[in-house]
Amino acid sequence: MAGGGPDHAFTPHDHRRCIKAALAEAQRICREHNGRLTEQRKRVLELVWRSHKPVGAYVILEQLRAEGFNGAPPTVYRALEFLLEHGLIHRIESLNAYTGCAHPGAQHTGQFLICSRCQQVAELDDPKVNRAINGSAARHGFEADHQVIEIRGLCPRCQEDNHAG
Ligand SMILES: [Zn+2]
Ligand SMILES: [Zn+2]
Ligand SMILES: [Zn+2]
Repeated sequence: MAGGGPDHAFTPHDHRRCIKAALAEAQRICREHNGRLTEQRKRVLELVWRSHKPVGAYVILEQLRAEGFNGAPPTVYRALEFLLEHGLIHRIESLNAYTGCAHPGAQHTGQFLICSRCQQVAELDDPKVNRAINGSAARHGFEADHQVIEIRGLCPRCQEDNHAG
């Protein structure tokens, strides 16, 4: 994605561009896969993308209800499932929340830097890490098919706050 990248999450940037790019990519990917990006699914994606801080299903539910959408939990979970299946969002297990994929459409596994203080998440996509994990797994006779790495720490801004305080 031109201009937008995973490293942008921790640096000041015009987030409207992230949202715009994410929605455009979603439309393209859904068209390619004959997936129907309904208004509700699109809105759920927008809500996940409203910042780089992962959003829980409950927050999405409440927001949709407030906007007059069908805010029944199964509907929201199905929308999230659809977005996950199309690689448009990721689930951050440790936060039980969802974050927009920084490079949808590309075959990749999830590697996330998660700031423990502000909870913003940056997505990495380092093929070297994938290879290292698959290689280690293979040495144990294990065939890995799914990997999600969640790395905790402090983002640059929170490190500064730490030093200032
Ligand atoms: Zn952004
Ligand atoms: Zn991703
Ligand atoms: Zn932070």
